Amino acid sequence: VQVNIVRILEETIGAMKASYDREFLLEAEEPVLTETTDIAKLKQLLYILLDNARKYSEDRIEVVAKKEGATVIQIRDYGIGIPKQSLSHVFERFYRVDKARSRETGGFGLGLALAKQLADSLEVTLEIESVEQLGTTISIIFSSNFNAGGLELSQEGS
Ligand code: ATP
Repeated sequence: VQVNIVRILEETIGAMKASYDREFLLEAEEPVLTETTDIAKLKQLLYILLDNARKYSEDRIEVVAKKEGATVIQIRDYGIGIPKQSLSHVFERFYRVDKARSRETGGFGLGLALAKQLADSLEVTLEIESVEQLGTTISIIFSSNFNAGGLELSQEGS
């Protein structure tokens, strides 16, 4: 189905704001349309990423939706960040960067493993950029095949 991601972000961010006293800023020029197979899964993915941004930072959280060829959602926090050597492991089940620093936030290290599964199922790509002590940006990239889909499929078929 075609969705306006801005609506979905407003909804998920609204729910986060209702639960936590934190500033979430949404930056998007309406509408940002994309094709998605499952809105509930997309929302679940967003909740996991927004919740991590909240857990591992104390400052504002910025959410950007834009179309640059592919449609992209970025969730940026200005928190503790992830050490370089941990970046390739955070999507593994039960992986937590550092038991000491993670203890106070609770959790089992399952959120990002589930996020990866949801992303695979939605056929979107997750990219993570992080600098320790500066913060983390996670991008959800929607396959540009979807957007140019009709054209590519008809070419393949001919
Ligand atoms: P839960 O099972 O409740 O999701 P979790 O947050 O520890 O627990 P993941 O969401 O899988 O599990 O994240 C894995 C690890 O990656 C975290 O323990 C944390 O160390 C690190 N991490 C994830 N997101 C961020 C972020 N935005 N900033 C800093 N570290 C992060």
